[in-house]
Amino acid sequence: TDKTVRFDLLHVLKTSVRWVVKGSRLDLEIVYDLPDELWLDGIPGQIQQVIINLVQNALDAMQHSLKPHLYIVGKQDGNEAVLSIHDEGAGIAPGNLVRVFDPFFTTKPIGQGTGLGLSISYGIIAEHGGKLLVRNHPNGGAEFTVRLPVNLGKE
Ligand code: ADP
Ligand code: MG
Repeated sequence: TDKTVRFDLLHVLKTSVRWVVKGSRLDLEIVYDLPDELWLDGIPGQIQQVIINLVQNALDAMQHSLKPHLYIVGKQDGNEAVLSIHDEGAGIAPGNLVRVFDPFFTTKPIGQGTGLGLSISYGIIAEHGGKLLVRNHPNGGAEFTVRLPVNLGKE
């Protein structure tokens, strides 16, 4: 649905990750560092779409890696829920870091990427009063971090 409700981000996270991984042939190892639950206000179907986009991008980036790791960290930081997804792909060319959220920006072959996933995700997180951030991780690979207020519209 499209209604704001209180939901467990980690439940949405785990089901979304399982769903994306099931649809890929990649033999990867997922390393989770999560609390038991992380409740917040938002539109679960939209947050699910963001997570699916981020995880699919991570798997795309690692499709030629042998037994790559996908690191998924969640935590509560004050009034924010923080979720980061870090892959072991090649990372993002420094000049492209500011462009990955642009609509239609893609480095994938024609027919394999629309370049819309991250721009839609950015909009969804902004609508939720949060932030979607990217960096190249010091240990290699790209890291996307979602920061969402736990209490939307309240303080
Ligand atoms: P698409 O996946 O259709 O290309 P996105 O908006 O999801 O569109 O991503 C835009 C671009 O950002 C990708 O084409 C790729 O260049 C870059 N990108 C996104 N996620 C990653 C990642 N995990 N590792 C490396 N590059 C990435
Ligand atoms: Mg994508």
